[in-house]
Amino acid sequence: MSGAPDIIAADRRPRASLGWRIVLLGLLSLLLVASAARSTERVELADGYRVILEDDGDIFVDALPRNGEGMLAFAERMCGSVGKRSVIAEANRGRTRMLKGIRYRVPLDALRPELQQQALLALFPGDRVLSVGWRHEVTASEGRSAESLWSVARWFTGAGENYRELRHANGLRDTNVVPGQPILVPVNVLRPSLRAILPESTTHDLEYGEDDRGQYAIYRLRKGEAIYSNVVIRFTGRVFADDVNALSAEVAERSGIEDVTDIPVGYRVKIPFDLLQPEFLPITDPRRQEYEIALRESSRFSNQVRAVSLQGVTVILDSGHGGVDVGASRRGIWESVYVYDIMLRTKQLLESLTAARVSTLTMDGARYSVIERDVLPSSRGHRVLTTPDYPIEDSTVGIHLRWYLANSLYRQHGAGSDPAKVIFISIHADSLHHSLRGAMAYVPGARYRRGSYGKSGAVYAARKEVREKPSVSFSYSDRIKSEGLSRDLASNVISAFSERGLAVHDDKPIRDRVVRSRRAWVPAILRYNEVPAQFLLEVCNLSNADDLELMKTREFRQEVAEAIVAGIIDYYGDPQPVSDQAVAAR
Ligand SMILES: [Zn+2]
Repeated sequence: MSGAPDIIAADRRPRASLGWRIVLLGLLSLLLVASAARSTERVELADGYRVILEDDGDIFVDALPRNGEGMLAFAERMCGSVGKRSVIAEANRGRTRMLKGIRYRVPLDALRPELQQQALLALFPGDRVLSVGWRHEVTASEGRSAESLWSVARWFTGAGENYRELRHANGLRDTNVVPGQPILVPVNVLRPSLRAILPESTTHDLEYGEDDRGQYAIYRLRKGEAIYSNVVIRFTGRVFADDVNALSAEVAERSGIEDVTDIPVGYRVKIPFDLLQPEFLPITDPRRQEYEIALRESSRFSNQVRAVSLQGVTVILDSGHGGVDVGASRRGIWESVYVYDIMLRTKQLLESLTAARVSTLTMDGARYSVIERDVLPSSRGHRVLTTPDYPIEDSTVGIHLRWYLANSLYRQHGAGSDPAKVIFISIHADSLHHSLRGAMAYVPGARYRRGSYGKSGAVYAARKEVREKPSVSFSYSDRIKSEGLSRDLASNVISAFSERGLAVHDDKPIRDRVVRSRRAWVPAILRYNEVPAQFLLEVCNLSNADDLELMKTREFRQEVAEAIVAGIIDYYGDPQPVSDQAVAAR
């Protein structure tokens, strides 16, 4: 939606007839004193911006011109386009010259998307971003005209006329609203700038029902779709072959399907509630609400720190498994050996192309050099680089010592200087249902990191990193922030995969939990890891024949390393203005 038509639309609200307006104009001078006392709400945003809500419901953001900044540059900064300078002049009593020390205002419709988001979140801190739309909570302020469906439509959709859609979507009979009342602004009429920050839509045309065996969701199978991929993998979050097969049988039985290879198009497949992932439950379900609150809160966090050439950045790299634990193994291809190769290639690229400092958690013997071969020699020589080091004889100990080491490195490089400049990536390769292929990232879901944790026993006590800080726990805000930053980092890397034509999972390439059989959890390497921005990267699925062939080529492994490095560089590139600053500013 472009700015100009919005402004016209916003102006077309009911108003007094022309004759009355002339009379009112005449009265205006008498009312000047009174109007000065009218209520205008102002909320400070980050970076010197300020949002203003006027008595009549107009919203502006104002700012001081920067040194040497003229109208064109100001329009570019505030609106993202110099074309909006006439709108700005109009909003500032026709002034086209910028004077130092005077704040200039820009109407909501003309603002660039990030400022629109920040302005509305700051003015209405009770509002919630849901996958189905924006939930506005009606506010009241002494002196300010009461909110109406018209004003809500104008703020959140850009056009007051959309009040009809709001009335319909909220099942209201008239346009009056009362303070505290929630109004859902549905996705289809929401401003594009606000739509952009909604969690991905997860309704997926599900209907819900109940029978004597309990509640279920109904999915109508489309042409060419199959139970295992289009129902089980998609809605239950299961990706491991044994799970997918078992649940496909369970869902088929529940739905009265006898032959899974011959299901008519449009067939109503029933998925019991206990198998559904929270995001697919009805929006009134507490499990879905808990999920969405965490998602909404964490999605307010994104990286705000820039680092040209990754100057000052520490990248902690881990490669999964190693030593006695070879990880996934398919036709002689060991996960531990191939992901170690990708980690070394990533390290080499970072050290040659950027100014980043790289630390790894493991080492294969004394080898940090890449072996330039497609098929790699087997090795069980991996050790965790704790003090003293730990040759991996027990995979569980190996995992726990890794996060102790990562936390120690974080204390060394992050805590003293800039914690936002340390990131952690653990590199793995999956063994999932054979139909799945490509990369997937796990980020630490805030809900799965409660409590405190520490290991005891001789093997741990012998190591400096464990003695430094034997146990960890995370506050709610730590967990939420970590989930948000991690999702930001992971999405930059996953995007870099896509941009290079490397396969990524069709469905949810970024997940906040591992789901296997009836359990959901965050892997220990992330769960107890104190680096805020961190994720576990599954570079491909070794159970998929195409992915397995690719993994056996050094070209693919090099491309994966390049994608990881590109994603890290993007993460420290242009920051996305975040709404949490706006909220925090209140
Ligand atoms: Zn693994």
